[in-house]
Amino acid sequence: MNQIQEISIQNGQFVPNDVAPQTANAVPECGPHFHEVLNSHALELKHARPNELQINLGKLCNLACHHCHVDAGPKRTEIMTWPVMQKILAWAEHAGIEKADLTGGAPELNPHFREFCDALIKLGIEITSRCNITVLYEPGQEDLAQWYADRKIRLVCSLPCYTEDNVDAQRGKGVFDKSISGLQWLNELGYGKDSELSLDLVYNPGGAFLPPPQESLEQDYRDMLGENFGIVFSSLLAITNIPVNRFAHALKRDGEIEGYQHLLVSNFNASTVDNLMCRHLINLDWEGRVFDCDFNQMLEIPLSGGEERYLWDIGIDDIEGQAIATNRHCFGCTAGAGSSCGGVLAD
Ligand code: SF4
Ligand code: SF4
Repeated sequence: MNQIQEISIQNGQFVPNDVAPQTANAVPECGPHFHEVLNSHALELKHARPNELQINLGKLCNLACHHCHVDAGPKRTEIMTWPVMQKILAWAEHAGIEKADLTGGAPELNPHFREFCDALIKLGIEITSRCNITVLYEPGQEDLAQWYADRKIRLVCSLPCYTEDNVDAQRGKGVFDKSISGLQWLNELGYGKDSELSLDLVYNPGGAFLPPPQESLEQDYRDMLGENFGIVFSSLLAITNIPVNRFAHALKRDGEIEGYQHLLVSNFNASTVDNLMCRHLINLDWEGRVFDCDFNQMLEIPLSGGEERYLWDIGIDDIEGQAIATNRHCFGCTAGAGSSCGGVLAD
């Protein structure tokens, strides 16, 4: 991978600034660079010692949503193998990793998903699985909901709206109905009710705008899903659409990329920076390569903007204090209340 890297010197150290991805990947090309705005607030973005691995098990998915930053879909063939999983398990045990965030694609469609989860649990690692709900109805996944409940795996499920029209427009026809019956099924098993069976829902905007305040939106979800379908859940996570790949292409096609980038930049919130997810986790692709976050993975920007490396080529002590590679898409994480895979970052 050829990276064009801008370098600055801060406190006597070389620090990679905004890193340009290969042209095949789409990010905004207008407005200030992220590092310029950080500098103007005297902020630096560096890794803390990570206690979490975010692991992308592959790009295979039963859906192909419009906003998907992974460009996942039913025809993707990139998928993590068991030998790669074994190397990750050995590294995680040695490094004392406490949490694993499993994502994809649909992580459950990886044929080694369940074996991998059981091995992580054996190491005492707490798992979050990013489940698109509809996968519960895929052939061969009939026992998946019960399997999850038996292991008390935390589920984070995307439901970008509580109305059928909006969900189907973003995720495909029939997805809303399947999602509703899937959530009812999970509720029957105790998810969203039992404190040990956490069921979080994810909202993301259906277009080029910022999410509304998470707290009031959560109440709207509770009211609408409760009254109409008897559904309960643990928390709602409001996530901003990050302008990379499929979503960035759509913005460019519709002539909205400059306006959206301006929206993100003009809503920069310095108080989100300390909690950005890239500070506390590292991200792995299906081959075990290391990235600062899932968005940088999709843009093929390696960890800290350096050489391409695999997890097993680095030690956990090498990560703390290292600069994080940024580009203009990072404004999506710092706009307004901020955004991460755990929802907002500031009040
Ligand atoms: S369900 Fe998730 S991974 Fe699959 S296409 Fe939709 S956004 Fe992408
Ligand atoms: S996209 Fe967000 S999480 Fe990723 S490096 Fe930029 S600020 Fe950090």
